[in-house]
This record gives sequence, structure tokens and C-alpha cells, in this order.
Amino acid sequence: MVSLMLKKKLRTILEQSGNPSAVFETDQIMKWVLKLDRLILAPDGEINPQKAEKAINAAMRRTKGEPLQYILGEWDFYGFTFHVGEGVLIPRPETELLAEKAVSGLKEIAETDSRVGTVIDLCTGSGCIPIALAKTTGAVCCGIDISEKALEYFNENIILNETEDKVTAFLGNVIEPDRELLDRLPEKCDIITANPPYLTAREMETLQKEVRHEPEIALFGGSDGLDFYRVIFGIWKERLSEKGEFIVETGDGQAEAVKSLMEKEGFCCGIIKDYNKLGRVVFGKLSPTAV
Ligand code: GLN
Repeated sequence: MVSLMLKKKLRTILEQSGNPSAVFETDQIMKWVLKLDRLILAPDGEINPQKAEKAINAAMRRTKGEPLQYILGEWDFYGFTFHVGEGVLIPRPETELLAEKAVSGLKEIAETDSRVGTVIDLCTGSGCIPIALAKTTGAVCCGIDISEKALEYFNENIILNETEDKVTAFLGNVIEPDRELLDRLPEKCDIITANPPYLTAREMETLQKEVRHEPEIALFGGSDGLDFYRVIFGIWKERLSEKGEFIVETGDGQAEAVKSLMEKEGFCCGIIKDYNKLGRVVFGKLSPTAV
């Protein structure tokens, strides 16, 4: 089959299933199956039959609502590629806003203190945050997650991104950390990041069919979605260095409530809005009077 034919076929399969992103997803499948960076294909270029079959199978799976990212087994975040699949949250573009805020903090540390910063990422999942931060700034990072499956992806991603000397994966419960975990972590760090589960009970009932394939444990944040934020600031602020910063992602309409929870723990806070003008990231430093 020639490439133009295959593209048309994939697009038709996706369009007929009502997929609103059929053109984009066709390109993603073509790139993946042909391992191309950019999609420059001669329309009459012959595609090896096994590859064509693999692409068609991917499009067929997609029609059943499986997330494209799981089918491809990889997805990009902050310019780096991560292994993803059943059992781990797919990295989202909105989380790049959190990464960007952490990168600017780490760059400031490099400039003012002439050293690389350190980061602890809570609820790390695939490890996309600590790995992206380590790759971008050279920071020494660790990530914690309660899910063994997520840790498997995280460890694969450390190898895939060649960050073995910078990034460490820990299995652990961030809302009830045990002594063993705490003893293995750095005593103080410059930045703590978290994209905790924050969907509300109501949001869990109306999830997109793709999101229903993702682990509930990575999505559900209790009835109002704020369960994690109620405890993590109090527990983890002990690990922040004097000028350290807490940076978290929040769900739709949660930023003000999360900011108040952070302030209650003695932080001076701010909110960053996303491209839809919704508060998406809350950050804070411990105010001098609180330490
Ligand atoms: N951003 C995800 C979603 O809206 C939720 C991830 C999370 O709970 N941290 O599906």
C-alpha cells in the first residue's frame, strides 16, 4: 500500500468512529509506525505491509475509545518522550505550566547560588515532571508514587531519557509517608512539585471515555477533589529549604481553595493561569514569619 492510501484509510476509520481529531491522530499514527520526526512522506511511497497493518490495528483500537497515547505506548511532555500505557496517567499539556514554573525556579538557583537545584515530585506517575526538570536544568530530582505499575513506567522513563544519574524513583504514600521512605529522601530540597489526583466525585461520573481507561487512583481527589492538598503542604513543607518553593497543579475552579490551604500552612502564594484563563498552578514560599 502507498502512504497516501494508508493515510486515507486511517483517517476514514477514525472519522467514521466520530473522532473529532481524526487528522491529527492519523498523523500521530503514521509518525509512530514509520518512526519519523516530521511527516514528510511521498504520497506514492510504498509502506511495508506489516507497518500498514500495525497502523490500521492502532486506528481500530482507537475506535473503541482506548487513549491514543496508550496505543502508541509513548507520548511527549515538555519536549521529551515518555513511555505510557495502562496503569499510569498520561502526561497532559497543562502540566507543562507547572514544569515551566519549576524550571524558572531552578534556573534562578543556578544563577544566584551557582549550583544545581533539588526537587521532590509527589504523585509522580510516569515521572514526566522530575525527568523533564532534570533534563532541562540538570537538577537532582526524585519522584514518589504509591502505584507499583506507575513506578515501572517511571523507571523505564529514567532509562529512556538517560537520567539515571539525576533522577530516582521511590514507591511510597505521600499522604502517610513511612519512616523508611522519609529516611531515603533528601533532608531538604529547593522545590516540591505535585500534580495530585484532583478530580471531584461529580467529575469522575462524567469522564471522557478515554480518561476512563486511566487509573482512578491517579484521578480521584475525594468528593471535592481537594483531599491531597489538605495534607501534603503540612507534611512536606518540613522538607523545603529556607527559600524553597511548593508548586502544584490544580483542577478547574480549585486554585483559590488550594491557595488558601497553602496559606494556612504559612506560605505566601500565587496562582498561574492556563491558556483558557483558568487558575492551573498554585505556588508558594514559606514566609519568613512561618519558619
Ligand atoms: N488533568 C487530569 C484530567 O483532567 C486529572 C489529573 C489529576 O487529577 N491530577 O483528566
